[in-house]
Amino acid sequence: MSRIPSSVPPQANLPQGAPLSVRAMKAPSVLCLEDLNEQQRQVVMAADGPLLVLAGAGTGKTRTLTARMAHLLQSGRVRPYGILAATFTNKAAREMKARVGQMLGQGADGLPWLGTFHTICARLLRRHAELVGLKANFTILDNDDQIRLLKQVIAAANIDEKRWPARLLAYHIDRWKNRALPPARVPAAEAADFAERGAQLYEHYQSRLRDLNAADFGDLLLHVIGIFQNTPDILARYQRWFRYVLVDEYQDTNIAQYLWLRLLVQEHRNICCVGDDDQSIYSWRGAEVGNILRFERDFPGAQVVRLEQNYRSGAQILAAASGVIAHNKARLGKTLWTRAQEGEKLRLIGLWDSEEEARWVGEDIEALQRGTRGLPPFDLNAVAILVRASHQMRSFEERFVKIGLPYRVIGGPRFYERLEIRDALAYFRLVVSPADGLAFERILNTPRRGLGAVSLQKIQRTARDGGVSMPEAARRLLRDGGIRGKGGRELSLLLDNLQRWRETMLRSAKAELPDDVAPDSDIAADTAAATRAATALPGRQEEGTPPHVALAHMILEESGYTTMWQNDKTPAAAGRLENLKELVKSLEGFANLQGFLEHVSLIMDNDAAEADAKVSLMTLHAAKGLEFPVVFLPGWEEDLFPSGRTLEESGEAGLEEERRLAYVGLTRAERICTVSFAANRLVYGKWQAQLPSRFVDELPEASVEVLTAPGIYGGGYGAATGDFGQTMQARMQQASTYNSPGWKRLQDRGRVPPPASGASGGAIAAMGDMGATDPPIAVGARVFHRKFGYGKVHAIENDRLQIAFDKAGVKHVMAGYVALADRP
Ligand code: ATP
Ligand code: MG
Repeated sequence: MSRIPSSVPPQANLPQGAPLSVRAMKAPSVLCLEDLNEQQRQVVMAADGPLLVLAGAGTGKTRTLTARMAHLLQSGRVRPYGILAATFTNKAAREMKARVGQMLGQGADGLPWLGTFHTICARLLRRHAELVGLKANFTILDNDDQIRLLKQVIAAANIDEKRWPARLLAYHIDRWKNRALPPARVPAAEAADFAERGAQLYEHYQSRLRDLNAADFGDLLLHVIGIFQNTPDILARYQRWFRYVLVDEYQDTNIAQYLWLRLLVQEHRNICCVGDDDQSIYSWRGAEVGNILRFERDFPGAQVVRLEQNYRSGAQILAAASGVIAHNKARLGKTLWTRAQEGEKLRLIGLWDSEEEARWVGEDIEALQRGTRGLPPFDLNAVAILVRASHQMRSFEERFVKIGLPYRVIGGPRFYERLEIRDALAYFRLVVSPADGLAFERILNTPRRGLGAVSLQKIQRTARDGGVSMPEAARRLLRDGGIRGKGGRELSLLLDNLQRWRETMLRSAKAELPDDVAPDSDIAADTAAATRAATALPGRQEEGTPPHVALAHMILEESGYTTMWQNDKTPAAAGRLENLKELVKSLEGFANLQGFLEHVSLIMDNDAAEADAKVSLMTLHAAKGLEFPVVFLPGWEEDLFPSGRTLEESGEAGLEEERRLAYVGLTRAERICTVSFAANRLVYGKWQAQLPSRFVDELPEASVEVLTAPGIYGGGYGAATGDFGQTMQARMQQASTYNSPGWKRLQDRGRVPPPASGASGGAIAAMGDMGATDPPIAVGARVFHRKFGYGKVHAIENDRLQIAFDKAGVKHVMAGYVALADRP
């Protein structure tokens, strides 16, 4: 439900979205209270003890949490380092840090521990790594490394990886880790998951990780929880240390995070969590919305505050979002209201295909940039495109490159997942942690050094037998003549290089120490050499390059890695070289290589503050907590959004989570929000006919304005409405509802030709008439499809039909896209 007063003037002299920091600089002492409403103030001023803020999107949860932190500091109740604040993304952490840093000013007494659960736990784990059999410089594996290692574990157990894929094992292990279960505590009923011996393989994997001095993401929490549980005095120390614990996006914590929090705050119980059950979108990663619901039970006497005023979105957008989320049954239910003016209605548009969708969005952004429809011109930074699946990004990226529209891809380690980046990072990792076997494997023969599978196996075997690291094993093999010839020479060169780079790094690290360390002429010479090498590279840096950045250049040059791509004649090579440049550039923001690698392995978003304006492109999942004046939500189509896979796997619960995702998307928008869908989409290289999403029909009519693009075709607006789980027949009858509210809306406005128009009029007319009284399509039925023509239904699976078309062959199409043929 939404209460939306339409005639209330916009908030007096409060610029919406003005950064808190600006005000902080003006009047630091009253910062916390001046710009807050009564409930928010209540949160900021609340006395010690457990506190939960349960509130809808854009009600100022994050802002209030930051203000509470500021207030705690200003009132002198706690020193900065006595505060621990867990955010969901690194971006959010950076923002909070900036605000608090500004408030505290220079020379502050340390900073609060502020970061994602992973970042904070990585920091804790480095301090106590030896307690879990790791060294302080352990490597954090990313997913790709994790899979490679699991493949080895599976192979070593003589299990056929084709039947039992490593990804499946990774899934089980992650699930156990999300529930804070070490191998020994995996419940008996689950221990035999995965080839009868999941728990055993899990144990083996953990011991391999220890051998490699590595931890995966799940380990960061798992190990720290283990340390807390097994070493009470360490736990007690941190319990005293962190006097106040603050958590943003609490609805998306998993059990391990929850346990960790409970351990930390047991003593003082000063925990303040903010969250929104309607925005819980990470259950697939083990998030438990139940954590938020049982807060009061776990912390008796907890204060619960609700915030209801939305400060972010225009009234129409808020009404649209509220209308959609109201379809969820499993929710606490909240009332949101806003003082904002009506604002623009939610804009809705259907397009012919995904390419046209990208084209239209590109043009619309350009129009918004110029200032259109009486709106002020928008900066590109104000615009975000939020997609359900990352493959949707491709058509936008291509289109934007073509028309020269600057954009950035945010969220998910996409940039760092690129092949060339991962290779480069492997080199850096080896320099920081010389025993990193996975990194060594990755670059051993990249660029080609004549060290193929045979050499790799030899090195692996020697490493295993001798209980030594891969590089050490390689050294031994060279010494004993196990690898000779060109490969041997190259290997020896590589090992020497690695050693030399490492020495350079260590020396410049010393050189960066404060003045009391005597200047060492060797170091200076080395650093200068590295700088020279760096500046000699084409298009490279000016004087004054920090040593670790210079070293990174040097590594990529001297290893032959840059040359490899320079010599590569494939079209992608130039882009890869660009990416490498970008990578090296991004190093400048860090004190050293290690800090950078730490950041990379933990990163959830890669949008370091950039000066120039760009459109942001990201997944809906990555958009949590963010806000943009202009938001595009493309691809609202059945199967894509809600995701067909989620529905298949999780049924009703999955559908509700998808709907929450829609709600998250809609509520990111401040001024303009546009939902679009395409009738055809290129998915993994194949064209697929698409139906508009059921969420399209859940958008309340009164808040929607339907747009049309030139050349839009007249079919396919109307969603598969109806309850999930109804019979297939019933679904099918509704599936092609040209009677759906959405479709009617289009027709009422007379913007779209009626479905009967066009070459295949008869068949389409039959489609248009297909209502509840029509017989459902059955196996054997003769049908018509706009693109593929006439055919016969061979099989039906949910609302997908397998049809043998007379001309186009056998195809799978959605039921909504065919009609019973009007002739045999
Ligand atoms: P989400 O659920 O999406 O994470 P949120 O509840 O954390 O949202 P914030 O991001 O903290 O909301 O706030 C939303 C916007 O409203 C921000 O631009 C914030 O600065 C602004 N805002 C919050 N409270 C107030 C207030 N009392 N007066 C003016 N603006 C406010
Ligand atoms: Mg927030």
